Amino acid sequence: MSSGRSFYITTPIFYVNDAPHIGHAYTEAATDVMSRWHRQAGDDTWSLTGTDEHGEKILRTAVANGVTPKQWADRLVAEAWKPLLETLDIANDDFIRTTDEHHERNVQAFLQKLYDDGHIYAGEYEGYYCVGCEEYKQSSELLDGTGEYAGQLVCAIHSKPVELLRERNYFFRMSAFADRLLALYDDRPDFVQPDSARNEIVQFVKQGLNDLSISRSSFDWGVKVPWDETHVVYVWFDALLNYATAVGLSDDPEEFARRWPATHVVGKDILRFHSVIWPAMLMAAGLEVPKQVFAHGWLLVGGEKMSKSKLTGIAPREITDTFGSDAFRYYFLRAIAFGQDGSFSWEDLHARYHAELANGFGNLASRVIAMVGRYEDGVLPAAGESTEAEEAIQRIVADATTTADAAIDRLAVHEAIGAVWTIVDALNGYITEQAPWVLAKDEAQRDRLRTVLYTATEGLRALAVLLSPVLTKSTPILWNAIGAQEALGDLREQPLRDAGRWGQLPSGATVSPLEPLFPRIDLATS
Ligand SMILES: [Zn+2]
Repeated sequence: MSSGRSFYITTPIFYVNDAPHIGHAYTEAATDVMSRWHRQAGDDTWSLTGTDEHGEKILRTAVANGVTPKQWADRLVAEAWKPLLETLDIANDDFIRTTDEHHERNVQAFLQKLYDDGHIYAGEYEGYYCVGCEEYKQSSELLDGTGEYAGQLVCAIHSKPVELLRERNYFFRMSAFADRLLALYDDRPDFVQPDSARNEIVQFVKQGLNDLSISRSSFDWGVKVPWDETHVVYVWFDALLNYATAVGLSDDPEEFARRWPATHVVGKDILRFHSVIWPAMLMAAGLEVPKQVFAHGWLLVGGEKMSKSKLTGIAPREITDTFGSDAFRYYFLRAIAFGQDGSFSWEDLHARYHAELANGFGNLASRVIAMVGRYEDGVLPAAGESTEAEEAIQRIVADATTTADAAIDRLAVHEAIGAVWTIVDALNGYITEQAPWVLAKDEAQRDRLRTVLYTATEGLRALAVLLSPVLTKSTPILWNAIGAQEALGDLREQPLRDAGRWGQLPSGATVSPLEPLFPRIDLATS
């Protein structure tokens, strides 16, 4: 059912040394909702995630733990990162590790081409280096240390002292690409989004770009520079290439042409790497730049940013163990405008879980299904003549489908879910107004009752399809309960952009009892 439209989306690759927190989970969930949406809409979809495993810090912690860096990374991938994907029910198509042989080999091929074409030269560099960032810092990015670091310069992100390093390194002539980058931002205003992030990047590049040191010789845990094996490739240069090596760069030109360019979802802290360094690298290699780089906001917990450097981390399982993965995915993607900062609190999660998932959606499904059971012995009746009330529902379902799809195209996941939720609200209002329990008492209203029950159940059919990219666990249960599995086949096979077409669920479908999709949760005991 491929539409031929290619959609390739990536998360940043996880830095293996990190502990998974809800910030990582947020990026994963958002990317997963968008890729599931496109996949079910019939687009030729590919979603990639993975791990970043090279660099000095990983070497140091591996040594400290008495294992090789590869063994260390293997352990963290198996014990932390792959389980995170399971916790969130992520349906990624691929998981790349920067220690994968095909990745390392193609990083070398890419680098060799840039070297042969004169984009790389040997030079001497002295600068302040933050090991936490794995990056040389500009003086504007440093602060005077306080407390135990008084008298030293510290990284503005890590609040830890930077080291003055002098290295004979290989440099990428990034400065040569400033004008082309500015022209790119100008020609394609949606290349970097949202606008606030774009403006920051444009200002940064307008100040001029330095050449980029792309090798290190003080340690050896990384991809070897092919023409000088005393150097390893700078971790960011290596890591960014994952997006291309994962889809066949050099190895499989057909696959690469099919997938590339990608939409990159990143956190604001790594936007510069993705929207300046990465497109410059691609330009130097004569490759197409990404389709888009989208920076989402910070999650704030008690007013503090969740990030890899300030570990106020909440483990995603703390949330999913109580509320489930559906609630996690729904809450973060509905409550926070994608692209803006958002605050997390247990109270807000708990309140929205009950108001929106348990009472709004879950209860709607339970009531409708129970009434078909009670009044029609669990057989979906045919609808009689439609009134304005039914026509309004049909229109809302059609409009919500179109609006949500357009929102996903703009990566406005929160707007897409909001659009679908207009159906939940409309159906709840419809049932209250039509009061089927009153109609059921009057044999003369039998046709009317059947019309109302059909309309409500067919509305649930559309909801199950439209919410399946978000509520991955509960929607198949609902799908089965309304008899759609038997009548229409697998939920994931239902073309998503067609979800608003009315009348797909046939009368006569078997409607079976449904346990609460979102049981009430007492926060005090959780
Ligand atoms: Zn730093």
